[in-house]
Amino acid sequence: VRYDEDVALPHDYDGQACSLARTLEVVGERWTLLIVRDAFFGVRRFGDFAAHLRIPRAVLTDRLRSLTAAGILARVPGEAGRDEYQLTAKGVSLWPAVRVLTAWGDDHYAAADGPRRIFLHAADDGPLDQFSRCPRCGQAVGAMDTVVVPGPGLASPSPEDDSVTAAMARPHRLLQPLRAGALS
Ligand SMILES: [Zn+2]
Repeated sequence: VRYDEDVALPHDYDGQACSLARTLEVVGERWTLLIVRDAFFGVRRFGDFAAHLRIPRAVLTDRLRSLTAAGILARVPGEAGRDEYQLTAKGVSLWPAVRVLTAWGDDHYAAADGPRRIFLHAADDGPLDQFSRCPRCGQAVGAMDTVVVPGPGLASPSPEDDSVTAAMARPHRLLQPLRAGALS
């Protein structure tokens, strides 16, 4: 894996043997975890990542390439002959980290109204805690069985929203491909 010039962490630093340092080399760059999060939310197409994240296209290209090289995303044939990006099993196993970081942000940086998104157990609508435990059935719930719904801090949809943002504002199961066009 190679790193570009704008990488936030020094290329060589005293923590190379540390698993956290290695993890951050892969997912610690700006935008990378946001791309991974969007992939959990069902974004798969280059244009949809670009529209939702408003990320410069050259940076998106670079990040998708490094996530694919790291085996976190896989490039798969999509509709209309365009490739799409799908989380691999290795990528899906990042879900607990994404979830707990999101919950940490909700605790410390959420809007006054509360979190933007709430995560529910698909089987019984139990509101999952930061460790994805369901209070109704006591299970630890994986990404596949998690439904994301708008929380109180999510702004009401506006006509100016891109179609991905609009589709994401509807309750949906994680990892199900978001078909923004078809849903809007
Ligand atoms: Zn449950």
